[in-house]
Amino acid sequence: MDLETLKAVLKPNRIVEDQQIISGFTADWTGRYKGHTTALALPETPLEVAEILKWCSNNKVAVVPQGGNTGMVGGSVPMHGEMIISLRKMTKVEFSENSVGQLIVEAGASLASIQEKSLEMGWMFGIDFTARDSATIGGAIATNAGGNHVIRYGDTRKQLLDVEAVTGLGVIVGGVRGLVKDNTGYHLPSLLCGSEGTLAIVTRARLRLWAKPDERVVVLFGLDTPEEALGLIEVFSRTSQDILACEIFFQNGVNLVSNLFGLETLWEGKHSTYLLLEFAGGNGVMDRLNTGACGELLNEFGSIAIGEGKANRSRLWSYRSLHTEAISSSGIPHKIDVTIPHNQFLDFFQRINSVVKRCDSNAETYLFGHAGDGNIHVNVIGPGENDLKVDEAVLEFVASLGGSISAEHGIGRAKSKYLHLRRTSEEISLLKKLKGVFDPAGILNPGVIFPE
Ligand SMILES: Cc1cc2nc3c(=O)[nH]c(=O)nc-3n(C[C@H](O)[C@H](O)[C@H](O)COP(=O)(O)OP(=O)(O)OC[C@H]3O[C@@H](n4cnc5c(N)ncnc54)[C@H](O)[C@@H]3O)c2cc1C
Repeated sequence: MDLETLKAVLKPNRIVEDQQIISGFTADWTGRYKGHTTALALPETPLEVAEILKWCSNNKVAVVPQGGNTGMVGGSVPMHGEMIISLRKMTKVEFSENSVGQLIVEAGASLASIQEKSLEMGWMFGIDFTARDSATIGGAIATNAGGNHVIRYGDTRKQLLDVEAVTGLGVIVGGVRGLVKDNTGYHLPSLLCGSEGTLAIVTRARLRLWAKPDERVVVLFGLDTPEEALGLIEVFSRTSQDILACEIFFQNGVNLVSNLFGLETLWEGKHSTYLLLEFAGGNGVMDRLNTGACGELLNEFGSIAIGEGKANRSRLWSYRSLHTEAISSSGIPHKIDVTIPHNQFLDFFQRINSVVKRCDSNAETYLFGHAGDGNIHVNVIGPGENDLKVDEAVLEFVASLGGSISAEHGIGRAKSKYLHLRRTSEEISLLKKLKGVFDPAGILNPGVIFPE
C-alpha cells in the first residue's frame, strides 16, 4: 500500500505504520483470529473517515472497521492485510439539550462511558455486558449487540434513534437528528444495525435513554434441572414488571470461575443449574418481589441468595459475568452464540452434550447465557482452532430446532459459511445486492457475513 497520497490529505499521525503499535490491533479477544496489516488509520472526525474511505475505494484498498476489538466472530481482524480503521479516537459523549433523555455519541465511545454519562444525567442506557469498558457503541451498533438487559429494553437497534455513517465510497449519510418518530422511507439505523462494518462505517449516533431505576435486587437460584429454570423464567417474566436480567449457567462453568477467581463454592456444589435474575424499578422492589406468584416462588426454593446492596449484587453477578474470561483461560474456545425457541429449550439442553461429543469425545462444553431471550453461548474447549466439525454440528442442530445461528455476536468470519442455515438463497442474494449499493468497490470488511 503506498500511503503517501492518503497521508497528504490528512493531518499528521492519522496513519500509523509502526508494527509495534499495529500489533495491538491485529488479533481478536478470543485469540482465535490473528491477522496482519501495514496500515492502521486513527481518524478523529467523520470527515476524516470519509477522506480515508474515498481514498481506499479509489485505490481498491480493503478495510476492516474496528472499535474495541472485543467481537467474538473475527469481524474486526485484518486476515488478509486490510487497512484497519479504528474509531478509538472518536469518544465524545454528549447529553442532548434539545430532547428528552437522549445522548449524542461518537462511534468510539465505550459502553461504560455512555452508561456513566446517562446515570450522571439521571437516566439509564439500555445496553450492558461484561466487555463494557472496551466495547464501543460503533461496535455495538455494527453487531446489534444484546447483553444483559435485552429482556427489558431490547437490543442495540431499539436504543438507536439515528445514525451517521460513511459508505464505502466515502459519502457521509444519515445524521444525529433527534426525532423519536420519523417514517421517511427506509430506516437507515435499522439497516446499519447488525451490518458488521460491511455497508458503512458508523461515526456518530443518537441514543434513547430510559428512566433510571431507584433500586436493584439480584436473586440467584441453585437448581437441579434446566426445566426448573425454565419454569421460573416463565413465571417471573409474566408477573414481575421489574425484571431486568435473566441469566442461566451451569456447575462446570461455576467450577472454572470459582477456581480461577477464588470465589466461594455455591451451596457446596450440590446443584447443576443456576438462574440469576435481576430486578430494578421504583422504591420497594424487594417488597413487590415478596408478593403474589413471585413471593411464593422465593419461599418455595431452598437454595436462594439475594443481593440488595451494590457489593452483594456484583458478588452474585460475578459467577455469571466471569464465565467468558474463565473459559478463555482454559484454552481457545469455539464460541457458538445461538438463540433457541422457548419451546425447544429442554430438547436443546438434553441433546447438546451428545451433539458435541459425537464430534470430539474429549471436548468440554460450557453453556451460559441470556436465558430470558432464549440466547445461549455454547463454548467448546478441546477441538483444534481450525477443526470446525463441532461448530457445524451445533449450528445444524440449532437450525433444526428453529433457532438462530447468531443471537447477538453477529456472523463475522466465524459463521459466514453457515449463513444459509438461517437465511434463504433469495435473501442472501438480496443482502449482497444491498452491500453493492453501499460499497460498490467491495472494500468494506470483505469475508465478513458473506464467505469470500
Ligand atoms: C467478556 C465479553 C462479554 C461479551 N458479552 C456480550 C454480550 O453479552 N452481548 C453481546 O452482544 N456481545 C457481547 N460480547 C461481544 C462484543 O463485546 C460485542 O460484539 C461488541 O458489540 C463489540 O464491540 P467492539 O467495539 O469491541 O467491536 P469490534 O470487536 O471492534 O468489532 C465488531 C464488528 O463491528 C465492526 N465495527 C466496529 N466498529 C464499527 C464502526 N464504527 N462502524 C462499522 N463497523 C464497526 C467490526 O468491523 C466488526 O465486524 C462480549 C465480549 C466479551 C469480550
